[in-house]
Amino acid sequence: MSITVLRLGHRPQRDKRLSTHLLLAARAFGAKNAIYTGIKDDSLESSIEGVVDNWGGDFKLEYSETWRSQVKEWPGKVIHLTMYGESVQDVIEDIKITSEAKLVVVGGAKVPGELYALADWNVAVTDQPHSEVSALAVFLHLLLEGKEYSRIFDGAKLRVKPMKHGKEMYDLRKD
Ligand code: SAM
Repeated sequence: MSITVLRLGHRPQRDKRLSTHLLLAARAFGAKNAIYTGIKDDSLESSIEGVVDNWGGDFKLEYSETWRSQVKEWPGKVIHLTMYGESVQDVIEDIKITSEAKLVVVGGAKVPGELYALADWNVAVTDQPHSEVSALAVFLHLLLEGKEYSRIFDGAKLRVKPMKHGKEMYDLRKD
């Protein structure tokens, strides 16, 4: 399933850590690509590139000046995560059975009202306010049914060796 995350309204001064965490969650939980709007941030882009370089896969981050064209011209289904939407448990099966590429939109400080009408689904992950990172992670997990656990990140230089205690990594550059 092809999943792209659209992050709205990035502000480098205020959102650097949050946007980085959101994009890392997108990559780790199975999205192929991400797009962000707001203010272009070269350091955000290079930190994500650095993670991809070390940890593998082909996750790509792009900047767009406008969210509207991304949503309106998206060739598949648009899912907007918002606490005001339909409950994820009520709509996830309908979303899953669609074969088209998915654009998962998450907000920042202000979400334009127009987006609610343009999205195919407005989806709430609980009806409580929390964060774009938690909403995205839970949504992707439900969408991919845990398949993200076993995803292989091709070209990785580093991989964690899972263990009960301690920390160890495979350094794949030595192979
Ligand atoms: N009132 C906002 C809303 O519409 O969900 C909360 C703003 S929150 C700081 C930033 C983003 O987190 C939102 O735009 C939304 O994408 C996501 N978010 C927060 N709580 C959520 C929830 N319960 N369900 C789905 N998404 C949520």
